[in-house]
Amino acid sequence: MTQVAECPECGNPRPLFEQCPYCSSQESPTLALDTIEINLKQGQPLVEEAIESLGNYLRNASELGIKAIVLIHGYGSSGEGGNIKRAVHHALESNYFSDRVHEYYFGETVPYGSHAYHALIKKRPGLKAYLKRFKAGNSGITVLLLNAPGVYA
Ligand SMILES: [Zn+2]
Repeated sequence: MTQVAECPECGNPRPLFEQCPYCSSQESPTLALDTIEINLKQGQPLVEEAIESLGNYLRNASELGIKAIVLIHGYGSSGEGGNIKRAVHHALESNYFSDRVHEYYFGETVPYGSHAYHALIKKRPGLKAYLKRFKAGNSGITVLLLNAPGVYA
């Protein structure tokens, strides 16, 4: 994962959602960016596990003030990758995560350079570094724009 956080206690780079590997601090990290990438396929979870971790990621991310998430869920007509994608799409379309997610864009709808892409980058410039790799769009990702902290309270 791209390095985006710094430990408030020892100043070393650290993962977002785990304790600091240098000093074991559990304090919320200081963010360098407002956009992060989350790989839902990591650890090859079952669909239910992937959706559950997405809920946890969204809660943590919105509390940390993160504004956009590039969610990697994979794709495919069969297998767990395709199932996770379908479950993510279904959850979003059913407003299952609407307390945290303000807007979402399926990767295939925002190919680099398209009108939709430019409109999205205008809203969240931090996404450019992630999306510029996908010239033809990427059906294996979904971009989530999060509610500002407090909106859901
Ligand atoms: Zn530390």
